Amino acid sequence: MRPKLVAGNWKMQGSLAENQGLLAAVRAGAADLTAQIAICVPFPYLAQARAVLEGSTVAWGAQDVSEHEQGAYTGEVSATMLKDFGCRFVIVGHSERRAMYGDSDIVVAAKFAAALKAGLMPILCVGESLAEREANVTGDVVTRQLDAVIALCGAASVAGAVVAYEPVWAIGTGRTATPAQAQEVHALIRARLGADTTRAQQLQILYGGSVKPGNAGELFGQSDIDGGLIGGASLVAQDFLAICTAAQ
Ligand code: PEP
Repeated sequence: MRPKLVAGNWKMQGSLAENQGLLAAVRAGAADLTAQIAICVPFPYLAQARAVLEGSTVAWGAQDVSEHEQGAYTGEVSATMLKDFGCRFVIVGHSERRAMYGDSDIVVAAKFAAALKAGLMPILCVGESLAEREANVTGDVVTRQLDAVIALCGAASVAGAVVAYEPVWAIGTGRTATPAQAQEVHALIRARLGADTTRAQQLQILYGGSVKPGNAGELFGQSDIDGGLIGGASLVAQDFLAICTAAQ
């Protein structure tokens, strides 16, 4: 059986003062839980996350990474820099980066490769827009996004990482995919990997998109949903911990 993983994505939110209480509360609340828990914070708060979470059961990570190892790339942060701050995870290909910062499938694949090379665990986000769902091309879109990474890194590498299915229309909208809709895409993702590697059954596939304490249990009860990538609700310790509890 695959372990459940719940990862928070704070996005561009927080302050040193606000984070302190939130991180400490998650650390304390997580001590009794069996699910794997991680928090992906903005780059400037990685040192704070490490200071508060080190020695606990909660891992920390970043929300993006450069595809380059080092050099004249102003404003970029490399995978080895993230490792320097004790990161275990890094999100790649979040739909906000794909839509607003030009992260193409090729760039996302290169970021995934850079993360792996540095020993980080990438959380690869895939998902369709509302227009794509309504045009019945969800499977094609998700497969295309996966295939770009498989082509560069191999199916076994993807199966050894984490994939997050995040329908764009469900992110931050309060509109969640039904458990059946999510399960259908999760099964498709596992089947796509299964065509090329025997490791597909080990792949942790998270669901993301308006997960809340009230809907987490039913989503996480689906056979191919191995936890969640949590945006808004990860900013409230009580809600985030309730979601982690639902992943037991
Ligand atoms: C996300 O941004 O990864 C996300 C899932 O956000 P929310 O939970 O707020 O929909």
